Amino acid sequence: MGRKTRGHREGAATGRRSRTARKARTPPTEAELGPEVPHRQLGSIRLVATTWTFPDGKTCRGWTWPLDLNPPVPPGAVRADPRRQLLSNWAPRYWYEDEARTCVQCGAAFVFSGAEQRFWYETLQFPFESTAVRCVACRRRRRTQQARHRAVADARAAVAASPEDPVSQFALADALVSLHETTGQGSLDDAIAAARKAHGGDAVHAAVVWEARAQHLAGRDARARDLLAPFLAGKTPGRKAGAVVRSAWALWEQLGGGDVGAYVGR
Ligand SMILES: [Zn+2]
Repeated sequence: MGRKTRGHREGAATGRRSRTARKARTPPTEAELGPEVPHRQLGSIRLVATTWTFPDGKTCRGWTWPLDLNPPVPPGAVRADPRRQLLSNWAPRYWYEDEARTCVQCGAAFVFSGAEQRFWYETLQFPFESTAVRCVACRRRRRTQQARHRAVADARAAVAASPEDPVSQFALADALVSLHETTGQGSLDDAIAAARKAHGGDAVHAAVVWEARAQHLAGRDARARDLLAPFLAGKTPGRKAGAVVRSAWALWEQLGGGDVGAYVGR
């Protein structure tokens, strides 16, 4: 990953660090030390002289962050590498300490650990203004929800491209039911319509199970049982059954169960 390190002076943003500045890993001499500026970890630090070379060959002298300082790290903290940080207007950090946080989503206490911060700011090169506001569980849940929303959008696009394709309709019903089961969002009416289009004419026979799941989510359990019973009649429950049949039996039991054959023949 490229170095995004830049000086904080105007003009510096477009310049590149010169060869002479880059090789200067020895401590700067008094003449090379610039103004003292406040620093959140060290109290204050002194900027160091640097020369930026622009694409047109012109050079510009200025002050930049001292990236090679090697201050002692507080106990328990993780040493940072300022050369890997995305600095722009931010001062470098020389270490990362565990930070106690409260999740904005669920209110639980969590720790934004030093190791995690190093991953965020050095491996992923996030800017320092991005910081963890959710606990790990909420972050994971959010990612799942975002993925489910994307799946629905993709399935809708596929249906729009070929509305007569039962497999696309089935995929849309599946995406909508999954979204609704995890988030409570997503149109159940659309899920039911898509599932009907998919199982109409036996195109995707199992889609009737998805319609039943959507009807159940919509609170219409009797309708769900009416759909499940004929599907399950003649299908044996148990480990040998396929995943769809097993999930259909599970839903049937959840809806009160009973003898499927008798239900169909009533
Ligand atoms: Zn949380």
